[in-house]
Amino acid sequence: MYVTKLVCARCGEEHSPEERVYFCSNMDGRLDIHYDYDAIADVLTREELELRPGGTWRYRELLPIEEDTPVVYLGEGNTPLIRATRLADRLGFRNLYLKDETRNPTWSFKDRPMAVGVAKAIEFGVKTAVTASSGNAAAALAAFGAKAGIDVITFVPHFAGLGKVAQLQLYGAKVVRLKWETDEDPTVKMMVEMVRRHGWYPSPSFGPFNPYQFEGNKTMAYEILEQLGWMAPDWVMIPVGGGGLLAGNWKGFKEFKELDFVGDLPRIAAVQSTGCAPLVRAYQQGRGPFEIEPWGKPDTVATGLEDPFPWDGDAALTAIRESNGTAVAVTNEEILEAQRLLARYEGIFAEPSGVASLAGLIRLKDEGVVDPTDLIVVEITGSGLKDPDVVVEAVGTPPVVEPTVEQVEAYLSSIGTL
Ligand SMILES: *Cc1c(COP(=O)(O)O)cnc(C)c1O
Ligand SMILES: [Zn+2]
Repeated sequence: MYVTKLVCARCGEEHSPEERVYFCSNMDGRLDIHYDYDAIADVLTREELELRPGGTWRYRELLPIEEDTPVVYLGEGNTPLIRATRLADRLGFRNLYLKDETRNPTWSFKDRPMAVGVAKAIEFGVKTAVTASSGNAAAALAAFGAKAGIDVITFVPHFAGLGKVAQLQLYGAKVVRLKWETDEDPTVKMMVEMVRRHGWYPSPSFGPFNPYQFEGNKTMAYEILEQLGWMAPDWVMIPVGGGGLLAGNWKGFKEFKELDFVGDLPRIAAVQSTGCAPLVRAYQQGRGPFEIEPWGKPDTVATGLEDPFPWDGDAALTAIRESNGTAVAVTNEEILEAQRLLARYEGIFAEPSGVASLAGLIRLKDEGVVDPTDLIVVEITGSGLKDPDVVVEAVGTPPVVEPTVEQVEAYLSSIGTL
């Protein structure tokens, strides 16, 4: 393992990689994981990487896991970067790519962080892991936990999609649906209480409660750079809830530049929903990384982005600024329109949270922030099958038709097909 130390992003408290530690003793920030990049550069080259199979463990030296840890692999990562030619024509772009994360084993990108989080749990020999999640992080933890033989307990809000809840149950996770009526996120509160009281392994997709899983997000950035032929795009569009995906991507982009695998860095656009946009608001108000205010109770069709406080917002805000990027909030209507366009023009079925990124791109083009000739990567982070109710509501249910030629043709002409 090439980790040199863990350092609290806020108070600077340091820990050694040998310690079994999840958070800073002041509980005030994420323990940022530092690596010996000179030593990594001695063993890792572009040529060496290209010889390896795809997926999380292709990048083992850049992850905080000991070499002899018996990690589990469910086929996560190694997702296609699809050139979106029809959508590009429709929207007026020349170089538009989609990173299709809907194809991960539990159908969202959360398999990347949870693969690493569970690998660390295996290394630590834990029996029980606990998470706070609106659904996708919990599903990923439940699946990897099942494969690793680790018990998983999940705190989800009472309004979490029932498809997501059923998925958790089938993986064998224990599900606690918590009533959420106030401004405080009860899932995080209960998770922290249970970690304190029972010593369970915390594994939400938030860096301040588990710094190891955060590193899994970097693998998406590595893949994008490799798939573009060792070149950085001009822009990457990233949906933001807790901010771990965005901040982890940025760390990954910077690491490949540090290792001289690429010459440039992309600009990062953070996309949130207008129903929960604490990071966008902080960006627009010029706030510092530790001056982000919580949103209150979220209300958006993008349920995977419902984090009233972006736990990794400090690093996300810094990433946006360092990359000369931007942040934008989109409405439910814009998200549902992007979902429809993606399905109709590219054949990809994404959940609202997973396609907010595309809605953000459309907005940024209208505002003249992104240029039609830019090379753009849009991260499509979760599958539409995660949240089918939203789609059923949007498209309606077709009527039942008598199976006669007359009735069928009457119906086809009523919908303008004949
Ligand atoms: C969790 C999630 C996000 C946001 O990731 P964060 O790390 O919380 O910012 C985006 N899309 C989907 C589908 C998610 O499940
Ligand atoms: Zn600290």
